Amino acid sequence: MKPTILTLLFAFLFTSFSFSQTYYLHCGKLIDGKNDKIMKEKTIIVNDNIIEEIKDGYATAPDGVTVIDLKDKTVMPGLMDMHVHMESIYDKNSYLNRFVMNDADVAYRSVGFAEITLMSGFTTVRDLGGSGVNVSLQKAIARGFVKGPRIYTAAKSIAITGGHADPTNGAKKDLMEYPGPEQGVADGPDECRKAVRQQVKNGADLIKITATGGVLSVARDGQRPQFTLEEIKAIVETADDFGIKVAAHAHGDEGMRRAVIGGVASIEHGTKMSDGTMDLMIKHGTYYVPTITAGWSVADSAKIDGYFPEVVRPKALEIGPLIQGTFAKAYKKGVKIAFGTDAGVFPHGNNALEFKYMTDAGMPAMEAIQSATMGGATLLGVEDQLGSIEKGKLADIIAVDGNPLDDIEVMMDVQFVMKDGTVYKNK
Ligand SMILES: [Zn+2]
Repeated sequence: MKPTILTLLFAFLFTSFSFSQTYYLHCGKLIDGKNDKIMKEKTIIVNDNIIEEIKDGYATAPDGVTVIDLKDKTVMPGLMDMHVHMESIYDKNSYLNRFVMNDADVAYRSVGFAEITLMSGFTTVRDLGGSGVNVSLQKAIARGFVKGPRIYTAAKSIAITGGHADPTNGAKKDLMEYPGPEQGVADGPDECRKAVRQQVKNGADLIKITATGGVLSVARDGQRPQFTLEEIKAIVETADDFGIKVAAHAHGDEGMRRAVIGGVASIEHGTKMSDGTMDLMIKHGTYYVPTITAGWSVADSAKIDGYFPEVVRPKALEIGPLIQGTFAKAYKKGVKIAFGTDAGVFPHGNNALEFKYMTDAGMPAMEAIQSATMGGATLLGVEDQLGSIEKGKLADIIAVDGNPLDDIEVMMDVQFVMKDGTVYKNK
């Protein structure tokens, strides 16, 4: 008998359902991402990719169901890093690599970055800018070709001509061309609208702008404002029409003040944030994504001769160390914090270093973990699906040895990783 469409459909449904798997996770300690207290002896029941139930004690699993023993571990939601660059890594060849690497070279290199990020417990990341390879990487992970975190991507950052993220900065004249909105460079509100629409067309889930100069671009200034308020408003309004949010890179205070008033969802780095801007952020509900790890890392690299171009070096030495102090102040004042590291500026997979810097600056370990779970989920607008271990949410679950509230450094050695109901690591 020839197979009909209907029998093929049944065959397809049967095969996909037969892969659905149920797990009982026996958790010695549980941080659920919402509760401020650590809980003891719980069972998480995961069916397919969904958290089906959380039971008290170690529930007995029905026959044929896999039990995962995490009784000597602390279990928590998959971690979320709100500032990474999945396709890049900074080293002393970075400035040359722009001219010698093809997209395919960048893509193959990013596969390892994605895997190490997931294996270190980060099941969701917000990619804040690359060449567009980041969009392809996101799709490859979603389709199961590559192991990696769930990616929300900004595609290419939007900059002004000559601003931080103008891809031709520092190039010789005939390589400079004149990048426009297609390449993420925009001047004036009309070009800004076009640049947003182009990034969405290219596959962006959110928009990243460089609201001030930056440390690592081949340009003298690292902190002056780089968009007018009118331009920022045009960007935010256009993004809002697509139902997406805007993240603003900013080191100097005037640029971040404009970005906050213009309506961005988050300020990245925030190095020289004034008290007045912190108050504005509290008023507007703007998140602060500190990236302390990147600050320390670039300051360290700048001490090595020839690591950065000479124009970058003084910026890296000055700006890097300031971020941790700003974070301490902003946290105390009550600015909303979402965990973010700028991984790619330092080696991928070391994202959890940020927990150490955050707690050293005065944030309690539980709040630091919440900033990397519900904090990230809320900033992304996916708090109904991710960020906590609750019935009905996606099964992104990790575990560490011991108790991170006693020793935050255990976060740097994640023992168990489940993303979307699939176990990727179980040491
Ligand atoms: Zn960045």
